Amino acid sequence: MDWKDFSKWGSKAVDWAASYNEGLRDRAVRPPLVPGKVRDAIAAHPPEQAEDMETIFKDFEDIIVPGMTHWQHPRFFAYFPSNAAPVTVVAEYLVASMAAQCMLWQTSPAATELEGKVVDWLRQGLGLPDGFSGVIQDTASSATLTAVLTMRERALNWQGNQKGLADAGRLRIYASEEVHTSIDRAIWVSGIGEDNLVRIPVQGPNRGMDVEALEAAIELDRAEGFIPAGLIGSLGGTSAGATDDLEAAIAVGKANGLYIHIDAAWAGSALICPEYRYLAAGIEGADSIVFNPHKWLAVPFDCSVQFLANPESQVKTLAIKPEYLKTQGADGIVNYSEWTIPLGRRFRALKLWFLLRGYGMEGLRTMIRNHVAWAEKVHDAIGVMANMEIVPPPMLSLFTFRLAPEGMDDEALDALNLRLIEAINSDGRIYLTQTKIEGKFVIRFQAGNWTMEEQDADTAIAVIAEIAARVEEGAE
Ligand SMILES: *Cc1c(COP(=O)(O)O)cnc(C)c1O
Repeated sequence: MDWKDFSKWGSKAVDWAASYNEGLRDRAVRPPLVPGKVRDAIAAHPPEQAEDMETIFKDFEDIIVPGMTHWQHPRFFAYFPSNAAPVTVVAEYLVASMAAQCMLWQTSPAATELEGKVVDWLRQGLGLPDGFSGVIQDTASSATLTAVLTMRERALNWQGNQKGLADAGRLRIYASEEVHTSIDRAIWVSGIGEDNLVRIPVQGPNRGMDVEALEAAIELDRAEGFIPAGLIGSLGGTSAGATDDLEAAIAVGKANGLYIHIDAAWAGSALICPEYRYLAAGIEGADSIVFNPHKWLAVPFDCSVQFLANPESQVKTLAIKPEYLKTQGADGIVNYSEWTIPLGRRFRALKLWFLLRGYGMEGLRTMIRNHVAWAEKVHDAIGVMANMEIVPPPMLSLFTFRLAPEGMDDEALDALNLRLIEAINSDGRIYLTQTKIEGKFVIRFQAGNWTMEEQDADTAIAVIAEIAARVEEGAE
């Protein structure tokens, strides 16, 4: 294909995208697929000669699409959402067409300047104070890694990158036992080592870290000669929405000179609604905050925003300026690749700009409020079903439940609930995932798809009731 044929195939792709998305409600959310089926349908060797687009496109429709789990399905209640509002898909199409590499201001001035603006729009949208600036990264995992590297360098007086860690003291990072595995990996990759991730126990209905235990752990570490370096707070944990008392935890972190990062990957989007900001009280004291517009806010993957109270610390940790990357003759510019680990950068700001303008803050708030209300509806309906147990209480649009008939021990209940979720997901009308809370297997429900309607909550209630009854009778 050359650009002359592009209009034809580009239009075909656009038409396909519209009808695919419009027809999603009639498909199973997760494909009824045998492992290896797609692999076996793909040629063993690359073609020597060009194939025609008709054949390529047909194979996409016949082989690939039936093997996809449909993340844009309105009844995708698993994991967290990875939404793509149509206006953002248009933006991605434009970005792909220009295919710019946005590593430096001068390699894409408009992308850089727009990035600064939309990050600031989001800062205002989330209710963060003016002092914060920020950068768009690919994922929360990357943003957390950059924050942990900054914790490390700051605690080692900016010597770690140069000297290595062999003779550095043992650093300590504190987080609750409910934080995401991206924190573990950041600790591994930064060379700090998992033994130095101090996991503080959680308490209370929000499953937040025990702040007194945090204080005691820091004190003990100091007495034993460790170097406390950083604190990672959780706002909306992945498993069950664990949320720390940020005000109290940040106060302890600050009193001890720690660099403070908050993981709000999922729940950060909810802060656009003022009524949910109480969950984040005190967050303005953090040094770094990450949230993923590519989850709940309807920007397609990947798009993770990291807010920074003082970007200089992160730039000091990560910037490298060889001669060939210097920008001559321009003052007051930002090169965002100095804020992140990869040099190359996609143009991610355009889809955010299209989203915020195409729906407005009020349109996005309505979406979030609907999801919370519909999750509550499903939660309340499950709560009154026979033998259903809900633990802990819901967090925003997320809650967990299990089928718990009397007289079964925890092992039998785990097996029963495993059968229940397998039966629900094989049925295909809805899609859920599981987690463990205090060692017990529970089923997670989150409402968050961009195209979800109240009827989808009603379907979820009906499907869960119907299949739970079947599983309990032993029919599944
Ligand atoms: C999803 C999630 C992450 C990881 O996000 P990525 O962008 O996929 O790296 C981290 N923390 C929390 C709380 C999450 O929900």
